[in-house]
Amino acid sequence: MKIITDERCTGYHSPGHPERPARISGTLERLRSQKDLTIEWAKPSCADEDAVLRAHTPGHIARLRVPEDFDGDTPYFPQIADFARSSVAAALEALKSARAGKTVFGLMRPPGHHATQSRAMGFCYLNNIAIAVLEALATGTKRVAVYDFDVHHGNGTEAILADKTGAAFFSIHQYPCFPGTGTGNVGKNCFNFPVAPQTPREAYRNVLERALGELKKFKPELVAVSAGFDAYAHDPIAQETLEAEDFHWLGQKLRGLGVPLFSLLEGGYSSDLPDLIFAYLKGLAGK
Ligand SMILES: [Zn+2]
Repeated sequence: MKIITDERCTGYHSPGHPERPARISGTLERLRSQKDLTIEWAKPSCADEDAVLRAHTPGHIARLRVPEDFDGDTPYFPQIADFARSSVAAALEALKSARAGKTVFGLMRPPGHHATQSRAMGFCYLNNIAIAVLEALATGTKRVAVYDFDVHHGNGTEAILADKTGAAFFSIHQYPCFPGTGTGNVGKNCFNFPVAPQTPREAYRNVLERALGELKKFKPELVAVSAGFDAYAHDPIAQETLEAEDFHWLGQKLRGLGVPLFSLLEGGYSSDLPDLIFAYLKGLAGK
């Protein structure tokens, strides 16, 4: 199991904000103190500007340096542009590792799946996964699928990948919930699976499995997973019901695809996040 992380990503925070440094530091502690998985640790290098510009406008990239909040959920921080770029670099590194046949997880913040071409929102500044998918397509991979199991709709990833040849997007999310999109399919390649709040675990798993069945039909050569752990029963900002064993099950299912795959951390705001990530990683590793 390869984990791409950089402890420096804990270097910004806003008091009371759910997207907080402990999400990473607690997970690092959990992973360092376990013996079930052999972990190869890696640090992200730096993100190629051309790769970032495939997904975002120059205006958006410039805006990240302007010291004004983006919206009520998405504060400005000094150096947020650099933190966001580091997260992108981890995504690009994860892509390389997946291509080299490794089981790999990007453990970074900020997350990315709400960031659109021209807007930071929902705690996200640059869209890590979309940038990695576009990089994959630009460098020889013909068919890439995104599987987004974060409890929120990956509106940014959808906006960036809609109707892009070779890409397909599958999002399973609570609706109604932030950001309020994802009720129907978009373009020819974005497939949304909204789930009502408080949907029982078994029924939620059925939807996760149905989305995975649709993804298989696309026959991807590579799968990029937006791994958010906020569909957890005790997550403070959503109203779903999954338990740690469901994330373990999901890891096993994704492993079962038998396709090169990388996962990037998106959301997950409960103090149990380290256990949820660990359960998922064990599933991915076949343990
Ligand atoms: Zn989320």
